[in-house]
Amino acid sequence: MDLYADIMIDISHSKLDQTFQYRIPTELAATLEPGDVVELPFGNGNRLAKGYVLRISGELSCPPEKLKTILRRVNEMGNTESKLISLALWMRDYYGSTTLQALHTVLPFRNTVPEKKKKRVVLAVAPERVREELEQFRKKHQTARVRLLEALLDEPALPQEAVTGTLRITRPVLRYLEEKGLIRCESEQIYRTPAILRELRQESEEEGNIQTSVTGFSLSQEQQMVVDAVRESTPGRFAEFLIHGVTGSGKTAVYIELIADTLRHHRQAILLIPEISLTYQNVVRFYHAFGDRISILHSRLTQAERYDQFERAKMGDIDVMIGPRSALFTPFEHLGLIIIDEEHELSYKSESVPRYDAREVARKRAALEGAILVLGSATPSMESYYAAAQGMSRLLSMRSRPTGGRLAEVTVVDMRRELRDGNSSILSRALSEKLRTTLERGQQSMLFLNRRGYAGFVLCRSCGHVMKCPHCDVSLSLHDGGRLVCHYCGYEQPAIKKCPVCGSPFIGGFRAGTQQIEAVVADAFPKARILRMDADTTRGKDGHAEILRSFGRHEADILVGTQMIVKGHDFPGVALVGALAADMSLNVSDFRAAERTYQLLVQAAGRAGRGEIPGEMVIQTYHPDHYAITCSAAQTYESFYEREIDYRRLSGYPPAGSLMTVHCSAEDEEKLSQAATYLARFARQVAAKYQADVMGPSREPVAKIKDVYRMAIYVRHKEAGALTAVKNYMEQYIEMNSGFHDIFITFER
Ligand code: ADP
Ligand code: ZN
Ligand code: ZN
Repeated sequence: MDLYADIMIDISHSKLDQTFQYRIPTELAATLEPGDVVELPFGNGNRLAKGYVLRISGELSCPPEKLKTILRRVNEMGNTESKLISLALWMRDYYGSTTLQALHTVLPFRNTVPEKKKKRVVLAVAPERVREELEQFRKKHQTARVRLLEALLDEPALPQEAVTGTLRITRPVLRYLEEKGLIRCESEQIYRTPAILRELRQESEEEGNIQTSVTGFSLSQEQQMVVDAVRESTPGRFAEFLIHGVTGSGKTAVYIELIADTLRHHRQAILLIPEISLTYQNVVRFYHAFGDRISILHSRLTQAERYDQFERAKMGDIDVMIGPRSALFTPFEHLGLIIIDEEHELSYKSESVPRYDAREVARKRAALEGAILVLGSATPSMESYYAAAQGMSRLLSMRSRPTGGRLAEVTVVDMRRELRDGNSSILSRALSEKLRTTLERGQQSMLFLNRRGYAGFVLCRSCGHVMKCPHCDVSLSLHDGGRLVCHYCGYEQPAIKKCPVCGSPFIGGFRAGTQQIEAVVADAFPKARILRMDADTTRGKDGHAEILRSFGRHEADILVGTQMIVKGHDFPGVALVGALAADMSLNVSDFRAAERTYQLLVQAAGRAGRGEIPGEMVIQTYHPDHYAITCSAAQTYESFYEREIDYRRLSGYPPAGSLMTVHCSAEDEEKLSQAATYLARFARQVAAKYQADVMGPSREPVAKIKDVYRMAIYVRHKEAGALTAVKNYMEQYIEMNSGFHDIFITFER
């Protein structure tokens, strides 16, 4: 039987999401696989082109007279590219996107960025020969030729700029000497080096040699046990681990040891860290351990710099890539290890199509390539902990700090009581008191406001009651005219004047900004030096790094900001952390609200007392009895997890079940609402076959961005597979109906 392959022609040349069918030659019939790279004749002129095999079948779907045959397979560099293509195809099918979108996400943009080459001029023959020729040129007063050859006798290779610039040698002269075989104009590939790597290199040169020891101290018993457990896994076989290590338990040293081990086995490693922690301060430890074997990606790199770092990985120039989620696609040939630090962070989910989750894609890539996946966090995501509980990965715990420090002492303040006792300020009495003593001791404090929650929930300041949807168990959002709306199911109720629980009239939308807090603090502590970090003060390329550095140098006593300030930073001078209105994130209309709140508070507590001084934290809340608050105050992850997983099981939310969000957006509100209604109706019909649950359409938590309206449909089922099936039907339906053409629709899961 003849076999045919659907081929995508080299993506850097095509903007079209189109495949072409080719005949598979007999010698390849048994071995060709999706993901293989092949050479083939393309177009009318039959020019030689490169293509990717996406699908193989026995069915001919183009006219036989048009059918051409694949010439050969060209998997130039082992099959790294093929594996990445398989990964892209999996992403396309699981998350929903076009093939082109998936390939563009995974493969570096070839040829779109001209490679930077440095040109130089070198002598092509022995100096004696040059001296003979030089004699002739001198006699004929061919001074330009003389000038160049003399210079080259001094220095056998000169940069071309210097030759054409300083020496004023023209092109015809160069060409003449080159044709005569006396010189050669060469180009040398140079990679564009990101600024952060240049800084690291420079600093280590100034310091003298790079430290040879991997970390500079020996691992604690707990750290060693974790390293040993990972090491025991079979080389070349996929295995997954979750390191649950309290803040300050020394996860970085463990990562460094694991990476060193991977390199010893001649395999490569990828370390994902959240964008916000991709600071000089954090990567310096890795640079000390691995020197120029590492490279770094981050969002401020140019397209060209990014491309070059991937090229270096391909060429075997580096073995370790550190970066945000896109670093996951580094084309290493023998990938041995993927580490995802702070795996609970939101930034591991992509917002552009395909809307992938780096943790899931990392798992897939590690499985495809027989690599080890290590997730690490002090506050693991429900998904990752659940996976460990189900035996999908192995849980490794680190409960102490190798430096001997203790976790921060936490005080929970009931803000309802503050109001009752006549204190209506944003600062509770306990927090003011602790701020005062911290200042007196010359130590630093951080105050943060949880900005997530600005969607405007409605709170009773007397009893703390928050208005919730009777159908979804998430908070209602305040909309124009005081209406209360559920973002999951679309439930609505009119404005309320009185708290339905205690009857108090002090019920309404809750708002406070970082600026306001700064003003209140400045008023209460006129001598304190205050720094503020939020979207307004961090404009410009390195705005936020600048503020953090300044605070790190103890140029301020108090840092006020959004939740940004308490993520992953290591300031030994900080003794006190205050969470103002910790509840804000508890009230977001999101089933992950409690999880986010717990994570944020525990991470924040981890910022206090990292140096010699013991740390303290104050949590201000209207829900002192909520388990997200009590468990974060006690810093007991397991008890939080038990409570939360019960809720997820009861409600069918992930990780107990699977959820898919279908985001729809358009400029025309009317059209959007109509299309979303049709789509939801169709989804309900399909979902019924699988006993899946469809909610919505409803307005998204942020219902309008830059004049584009946004709505969402949610599909829920126990099994992820059923959601993929529903998605596939929906994709076809969207494709076939012209009514959806002006609507931008994406799937998220
Ligand atoms: P985490 O990322 O788990 O919060 P870090 O990796 O930042 O913790 O480590 C916290 C601190 O402990 C760092 O200052 C680090 O240098 C130090 N540290 C880590 N391991 C050891 C060890 N075995 N002995 C002494 N100090 C250590
Ligand atoms: Zn009330
Ligand atoms: Zn609802």
